[in-house]
Amino acid sequence: MSTRAFVALGANLGKPARQLRRACELLARLPGTELLRVSSFYASPAMGYADQPDFINAVALLETGMSADELLEALFAIEAINGRIRSFRNAPRTLDLDLLLYGDSVISKPGLTVPHPRIAERAFVLNPLLEIAPDVVIPGLGAAKAFLGSVAGQPISLHEE
Ligand code: ADP
Ligand code: MG
Repeated sequence: MSTRAFVALGANLGKPARQLRRACELLARLPGTELLRVSSFYASPAMGYADQPDFINAVALLETGMSADELLEALFAIEAINGRIRSFRNAPRTLDLDLLLYGDSVISKPGLTVPHPRIAERAFVLNPLLEIAPDVVIPGLGAAKAFLGSVAGQPISLHEE
């Protein structure tokens, strides 16, 4: 049994675009997993603690035989390979990987909430997600594209290298 999972990638320290590309290579190599799509890279100013470099964000679509728990563990491992240090909330980071959607599963337990609780609130998640999956449905919320208007005020641009 395999499941389609969407993963959000973000970085704002070191070489963010390089770290995102590296993370995609590692996602593609996970056991029983195929990397089906990767969005364009988007740039946006950091939220929360503002005095830090812009973020580069993207969303990847995987088809995987891993469970949601296994996938989350694998995401943490890829973050660790990229030298992420967890300091404080919204701190600058070399790589952040979030599990946005895991098939049509709804999961709510300590350490794992799916759909990701802030999936519909952030332009830097919704724009890349809708780029690669225009008709994606968020379990419990409905069509993702219905939320695009509510994040239209958040500054975001395509990141060209
Ligand atoms: P952020 O909310 O900025 O991504 P972190 O990456 O530090 O912050 O994540 C904090 C915690 O969020 C992690 O310990 C993880 O267990 C938990 N978490 C809950 N649901 C998810 C999810 N869907 N994807 C990633 N992490 C999640
Ligand atoms: Mg995270």
